Amino acid sequence: MNHEINVQSESVQDYSDLNEEAQELIKAAIEAREFAYVPYSNFKVGSAIRVADGSIIGGCNIENSAYSPTICAERTAACKAISTGNNEFKAVAVIGLQEKSFTTPCGVCRQFLSEFAKEDIPVYVTKPEPERVLVTSLSRLLPHSFNLN
Ligand SMILES: [Zn+2]
Repeated sequence: MNHEINVQSESVQDYSDLNEEAQELIKAAIEAREFAYVPYSNFKVGSAIRVADGSIIGGCNIENSAYSPTICAERTAACKAISTGNNEFKAVAVIGLQEKSFTTPCGVCRQFLSEFAKEDIPVYVTKPEPERVLVTSLSRLLPHSFNLN
């Protein structure tokens, strides 16, 4: 299994300093973001998940005129992964364009993703033209996730 980074600490890194696997995951999330369906907010988000066999599955946010059926990019990617038999996640990338902050996953997505991460996994958060990347991990984003085990 590839462990893309040491997730012991959170940091902001230059995209160019990330390893090839992390860059590849970020690129996939940037590509998925282009398909975002966001006529109401115009706020595009892309995500990509590396699954246990090493492949990458992307997703975008999809809005709805009734608002509450709207789904985030991370859960779109996760549902695509799970519905194709890939239910072990190894890394996640999230792309959004906010001027002053990183577009980190919402609480619902953090919990949703945690269901499919057997161990702590890296989460890369950056912008569509990645320069600085927040390199964090799922357990940092969601300590004490709900777990029935
Ligand atoms: Zn979300």
